[in-house]
Amino acid sequence: MYISAQEATLTYAGSALDRLSEQRGDAKLIQSLRQNARNFVIAGEAFVLAKRESSFDAGLTDEEAAIAGEPLETALLGKDRNGRGHFARAVAAERIDAIKAHGGFIAVDLRSIALQGLVPPEELSSLATAKALLFWHERHRFCSNCGQPTKSAQAGWRRDCAACSAQHFPRTDPCVIMLAVHGEQCLLARQTRFPPGMWSALAGFVEPGESFEEAVRRETMEEAGIPSGRVAYFASQPWPFPMSIMIGCFVEAKSDKLKIDEVELEAARWVTKDECRLMLSGTHPARFFAPPPLAIAHHLIKTFVENGVNVFD
Ligand SMILES: [Zn+2]
Repeated sequence: MYISAQEATLTYAGSALDRLSEQRGDAKLIQSLRQNARNFVIAGEAFVLAKRESSFDAGLTDEEAAIAGEPLETALLGKDRNGRGHFARAVAAERIDAIKAHGGFIAVDLRSIALQGLVPPEELSSLATAKALLFWHERHRFCSNCGQPTKSAQAGWRRDCAACSAQHFPRTDPCVIMLAVHGEQCLLARQTRFPPGMWSALAGFVEPGESFEEAVRRETMEEAGIPSGRVAYFASQPWPFPMSIMIGCFVEAKSDKLKIDEVELEAARWVTKDECRLMLSGTHPARFFAPPPLAIAHHLIKTFVENGVNVFD
């Protein structure tokens, strides 16, 4: 089905920046973009936001970024429509206390920033990029080929090993998230780590040598014991926790007989459209609820409620 409007509203997607992917090796350009740049600073799990008059700003000036701390890594996020450079910058997690003590900043995790709407929606994409990319840098300081230290290159979009000349590129891990549909019902499940009352779609990582469709069918079988047929792509969402992309799909269940994988899931059950509506609006009598709109699962459930089995057309 064609859902372009949906795609534009998914949290962490929809960047307004030109990522300049072909020009990251142009040192002169990168240097010029550094002038008057906006710096998105992350310390451990928290972003540093500068306090403005009545709001917060994730794009710190150079002076503000310097107060936040010496960068461990920096990376070019892109250029905005005014030609201004945007950079990601990691500082040591130990800086958090000093940043908070300064008074001019707050330090907040990305999920809270999104839930509380602390920055403009299109900027969440920059924060998501910064978080995933800087996490990758932190975990790839040594060459996976020869074990020697690696060094950031291409404005933060590659790491090079001087010892064996290997080049390492940032990774994003594909994860399928699928809403199984059986007639007028869909399958919702609970993982033990979910907050009490929250039910969501099934999900799992795509394995090497597997198509998205195969991963959807395998996970549906493994987690719920359900054989499945048609798979319909819905939309995708960057999910920087720590560095995934969620590939949202609907999958046609060939049976409604559940056999739950009790290691992966606490519970799973078929839910009618009416009950889904109550879960989406937070009015369910048992206080069951769907994930919030910042998660693609919310939109999968909402789209099923609105379209029923037409999601496969
Ligand atoms: Zn190496």
